[in-house]
Amino acid sequence: MAQHITLIGGGLVGALLAQQLAGRGFKVDVFEKRPDPRIAGFVGGRSINLALAERGLHALRQAGLANDVLQRAVMMRGRMVHTRDGRSGLQRYGVDDSEVIWSVSRGALNMLLLDAAEAAGVRFHFGQSLVDADFDGGRIRLADEAGVARGIDAPVVIGADGAGSALRAAMNHHTPLGERVEALGHAYKELEIPPAGTLPSELVDRSGGHDQFALEPHALHIWPRGGYMCIALPNTEGSFTVTLFLPAQGAHPSFATLPDARAARAFFEHDFPDVLPLIPDFANDYDGHPVGTLSTLYLQQWHLGGKALLVGDAAHAIVPFHGQGMNCGFEDTVVLASLMAGAPGDTADVFAEFQRIRQPNSDAIAAMALENYVEMRDSVADPHYLAKRELGALLAERAPQHFMARYRMVTFTHLPYAYAYERGRAQDVLLEQLLRGSTQAGSVDLDAAAATLRATLPPLPDLH
Ligand code: FAD
Repeated sequence: MAQHITLIGGGLVGALLAQQLAGRGFKVDVFEKRPDPRIAGFVGGRSINLALAERGLHALRQAGLANDVLQRAVMMRGRMVHTRDGRSGLQRYGVDDSEVIWSVSRGALNMLLLDAAEAAGVRFHFGQSLVDADFDGGRIRLADEAGVARGIDAPVVIGADGAGSALRAAMNHHTPLGERVEALGHAYKELEIPPAGTLPSELVDRSGGHDQFALEPHALHIWPRGGYMCIALPNTEGSFTVTLFLPAQGAHPSFATLPDARAARAFFEHDFPDVLPLIPDFANDYDGHPVGTLSTLYLQQWHLGGKALLVGDAAHAIVPFHGQGMNCGFEDTVVLASLMAGAPGDTADVFAEFQRIRQPNSDAIAAMALENYVEMRDSVADPHYLAKRELGALLAERAPQHFMARYRMVTFTHLPYAYAYERGRAQDVLLEQLLRGSTQAGSVDLDAAAATLRATLPPLPDLH
């Protein structure tokens, strides 16, 4: 008889995992707090759109969904960096258009995944919140939208219920999981640049020949300003979602010193004068959209024997600056579905193995995501950083078996995050030695540098 799995949360990771498990013969019931977005409309929560990269795409390919998703996505070739003086330039992410990331709508992706999971035989129960669990008795308690509670049998339960996971709270109550949440101290707010047709034509950048979009659509736009920044990701219908990242509290500028649209407008006039005119609904967006908080979640124990397991943000929420939270969660689903299919019924061993494989990697991407905030808001405009980047690209060309930029390893390969982190660190030490503080990559003797690289670091693993 098929093993029964109860999943909590039908968000991005929960819906994909459900589809993967049902496809491998498990009987899957998903309990999701929100109403069915395909009927009630998608109720946001986290970002409106997000960047999909190779790890996430790989999981979607395994699920047979990559093409469907890509048809609803906008390609982003690199970062378009907008400096204070109004200039902009594209820093490519990869070597060519085979190495790009994709902007996808969270709502559209979630609905596509729900459809796919249902088609694979998953049963969804919407408007059902997990409130508590009795792991020893193999039961969970759910509440519907009216607050009416009921208990059901759930001997094996998996929590994909996000950073504020109720299953994690119930597990912690049963056995302390060693939870540590580190607040970033910075927060975010989303604003919208509408499609070009609704804006005065003199504001629209027509240089790329994309009439629908006010800015170049095939890029992730960044306005780095040192301690804070704005970014913008394109949406298929021609708009961009702008995200302002700022300290939550403290001295100006912070969300505390910009409590309303009036104060924020003056700040944008000064710091983001080229963005402000592109947001005609600035006052409504600023006053109407919430300030989202950002934290990293570290958890020593992801499972209670074979009874309960956490995946995705519920196990390892990270800050969004590497665009990898969903990608990492999707990678979780590939690993877990394959382990479970390999040893059905042996959930205690499978859950322990899952944590053993994934935790060093989620720790590594958590660290890299934190580092990337500094890179995005500050370093992308720094001459020494740009020289290192250029020297890295030259070495990657000359010694491709020995050098690959960390961003590329994380974004365009399946090399474990932990490997990318360690290798990136070793490569960075070497680049610093070679540049010796210079801002000129051209001043380095490339033959000698490539020889030092080969002598210092082992070849990269085979990517195929
Ligand atoms: P969630 O998406 O949070 O889904 C959890 C689900 O569980 C929801 O549907 C929720 O309603 C449900 N739920 C919650 N509580 C209960 C309960 N008690 N009972 C039943 N159901 C419940 N990642 C990227 O890869 N690329 C990006 O570019 C990117 N950008 C981001 C930008 C921002 C501003 C933020 C905040 C995050 C970003 N992320 C990005 C991270 C990404 O959003 C998360 O990693 C991803 O959403 C995790 O998916 P999940 O399914 O684990 O959790």
